[in-house]
Amino acid sequence: MKTLLNLVMIPAVSLLFFGCAPKEKEKELEKFITAHVQKIKPMEKETNLAWWDAAISGKAEDYDKVSKLTLKIRRVYSDTEEFAFLKEMKDSGQIKNSILARQLEVLYNAYLRNQIEPDLLKQIVDLGTEIEKNFSTFRGTIEGKKVTDNEIKEILKTETDSAKREQAWLASKQVGAAVADDIIRLVKLRNQAAKKLGFDNYHTMSLTTGEQNVEQLDRIFNELYELTNEPFAKLKADLDRMLAAKCGVAVMELMPWHYHDPFFQETPMVYELDLDAYYQDKDVKELGASFYAGIGLPVETVLANSDLYEREGKNPHAFSTDIDKEGDVRILCNLKNNETWMETLLHELGHAVYDKYKDPQAPYLLREPAHAFTTEAVAMFFGRLSRNPAWMKQMLGLSDELREGIEEVGSKYIQLKQIIFARWDMVMYDFEKQLYANPDQDLNSLWWQMVEKYQFVKKPPSRNEPDWAAKIHFTAAPCYYHNYMLGEMLASQLHHHIVYNILKLQSDKNVSYVGQGKAGDFLAKKVFKAGNLYHWDQMIERATGEKLTPKYFVNQFVE
Ligand SMILES: [Zn+2]
Repeated sequence: MKTLLNLVMIPAVSLLFFGCAPKEKEKELEKFITAHVQKIKPMEKETNLAWWDAAISGKAEDYDKVSKLTLKIRRVYSDTEEFAFLKEMKDSGQIKNSILARQLEVLYNAYLRNQIEPDLLKQIVDLGTEIEKNFSTFRGTIEGKKVTDNEIKEILKTETDSAKREQAWLASKQVGAAVADDIIRLVKLRNQAAKKLGFDNYHTMSLTTGEQNVEQLDRIFNELYELTNEPFAKLKADLDRMLAAKCGVAVMELMPWHYHDPFFQETPMVYELDLDAYYQDKDVKELGASFYAGIGLPVETVLANSDLYEREGKNPHAFSTDIDKEGDVRILCNLKNNETWMETLLHELGHAVYDKYKDPQAPYLLREPAHAFTTEAVAMFFGRLSRNPAWMKQMLGLSDELREGIEEVGSKYIQLKQIIFARWDMVMYDFEKQLYANPDQDLNSLWWQMVEKYQFVKKPPSRNEPDWAAKIHFTAAPCYYHNYMLGEMLASQLHHHIVYNILKLQSDKNVSYVGQGKAGDFLAKKVFKAGNLYHWDQMIERATGEKLTPKYFVNQFVE
């Protein structure tokens, strides 16, 4: 009887208890968030503006200002007491309101990744900077003569003498031997920091704080591997025949140096395709503006705030930035009227419309893309159009004959480009995962196992050098490379969904998106407006009815 009474009583009591406590916790959290946003919002705006000024002026003092402001923000997120508060909130399980819970998740991860002990963090940052410096000043040698990266690339693109190609390739790998020991030290320091925060290693920690996990990525990458295996073998066999013929060697004799870049991550130029000619007497800025206006996502205000043309001292690349999360979105470009800059402009404006058309009513902390790879996906979705024959025909007023010509060569080239990148990205993802899991293993042979497995490129006989260490991303952008591939997959998934479910077409052949307001409307409502209100996984499912899958990437480019 007594036991029964207790059983009955306890839930009743706890029901009462939990009945009021959550509201308390939620109120406490709300208060914290209000104070946090008040503090961080002006800091972020100031930093973004400083970054913008530095990119335009190129002045050292402007870059110094950016570093100082970035450090100030980092200090906010490294506060241990505030982190403890957020952890307590999370562990309490009493934050029921979904918008509050989402903000808590985002804040918790931002604090967590900045909880590395200051001494250890300093060692990590210093060693990283040191390696990057060695990278940028190192010059490989050919027959004792120093060569630049551009000279190496030029040889790999044009030389037909295999021995000379081999020397250039070997020169490109010399930096690996110079930095490998330091990279392994850096990996161990990063692991040490991650272990102190309760993670297996730094790779696991990076994925977790970025709301991803190894099981999920393994599943996606394994599926992509399976789906691309056969088609890649076939495409690569064709490619190998062409490359072998060019150098007068048998296919069996092809070595890593017969591909056109040091890692076989780019498409060897075996197909004649010059798209620049179609853009040279056009104005890419006007084309970009009119295309985006046509799909109902006008970019005039973005372009008005932007810096679009080359200037002395200015950052020579391109990016998009959301200055204040209140509509001041800008892009930086160095436009020329050619295909590369048409792609870049469409790409950066893709990032820009994601930021521009988000929900202005959403809480400040959630007024951002769901993930770095989701905004990359939208940028890729639009960037791909610059070489889409149907888009070119409509935007550039090409004849049907010209369009067909572009399509014939272009589709082969694009297919090769996408699949080569996919197989290369698998090497990076798998190797990096294993590098952090066990940095003491034989990394030199692990690297070649990956290259042989995914890229079908043979290890040179008896080669035992840290060729993996010649890739700067392990130092400069750790545990990030897989996101490029996730972006490509999502771009294709969005494309598939829009073509078949929004535009309700029978096929994606000849789809240009020109004037398709429904496509812009779908993206604005289902992707941009969702901001970071949902985990990326949920956002994708809500938008397309499916979880992220490599299926549509394979549909679009491989089969
Ligand atoms: Zn981008």
